[in-house]
Amino acid sequence: MRIVVLAGGIGGARFLRGLKQAAPDADITVIGNTGDDIHLFGLKVCPDLDTVMYTLGGGINEEQGWGRADETFHLKEELAAYGVGPEWFGLGDRDFATHIVRTQMIGAGYPLSAVTAALCDRWKPGVRLIPMTDDRVETHVAVTLPEADGAAGAGERRAVHFQEYWVRLRASVPAEAVVPVGAEQAKPAPGVLEAIAQADVVLFPPSNPVVSIGTILAVPGIREAIADAGVPVVGLSPIVGDAPVRGMADKVLAAVGVESTAAAVAEHYGSGLLDGWLVDTVDAGVVERVRAAGIRCRAVPLMMTGLDATAQMAREALDLAEEVRGA
Ligand code: GDP
Ligand code: CA
Repeated sequence: MRIVVLAGGIGGARFLRGLKQAAPDADITVIGNTGDDIHLFGLKVCPDLDTVMYTLGGGINEEQGWGRADETFHLKEELAAYGVGPEWFGLGDRDFATHIVRTQMIGAGYPLSAVTAALCDRWKPGVRLIPMTDDRVETHVAVTLPEADGAAGAGERRAVHFQEYWVRLRASVPAEAVVPVGAEQAKPAPGVLEAIAQADVVLFPPSNPVVSIGTILAVPGIREAIADAGVPVVGLSPIVGDAPVRGMADKVLAAVGVESTAAAVAEHYGSGLLDGWLVDTVDAGVVERVRAAGIRCRAVPLMMTGLDATAQMAREALDLAEEVRGA
């Protein structure tokens, strides 16, 4: 079975670990979000690709959900001693090596997709990890900077990098707009459209619907390829009990005019894209609403409390895909 998964960072990576357990013989291709990518200290950092790679490759900081296990921060301290920031982005010493290798290869002319494959030669994530595009896309968030903000521009309306919104501002102010800058001009990376065309099933893990999956779908050609592939497309809700399980999905959903409920996210993707949707058992009351939108829906436990619980979620998603296929 060939499975294509569109993934952000933590939600996508943890789900993938369960999917690998649930379908050990499947050929899994992961199309990773690169809208969170940022240049720091002259290095290209790809947080979501790295979270997937480290999580599946056994190098992740389990408690944090991102970054390397067994990490130290000497390099960051030395940079700070020179007054070189940003101080708000925590890059550890082990993690730095990944970004140095990536930046060096890009400087030598390799596209990000080839660099990602090379990094995965070390980590052996057990899936084929492809960035959504080799082109530069950066998600920006329009905000009114907090009055108490120490940085310049307090009280002014600004577009900030998504990482600055999430990591420095901690999503403390409303996201007034979310724009994947560069997406319209971006082309899917080599292998992306081919993987979708050859897939038996496409899964949307419980990743952020706006700044993870939404950004991937904003690359021209990807949404169309999924809608036209003629295979079951099944998603799992990242919203449980009307709130994100973690993160700021509620803030970025509000920016695109979508309420933070499992049903509204399904309707946002729409029946033109989505065939099946899993909601958590606490949201069983919305199953009929989702079905009324033309999307098959079941309520099952959706908390990734451990590997077995997550593998069971993946089985439920594949089971719903079979129901779609048989219909
Ligand atoms: P990010 O790039 O690190 O933010 O990760 P993703 O976009 O892949 O996933 C973030 C989403 O995962 C958030 O909206 C969370 O609500 C969701 N999430 C995290 N843990 C769980 C869980 O255990 N169950 C469900 N259903 N969603 C989760
Ligand atoms: Ca992310």
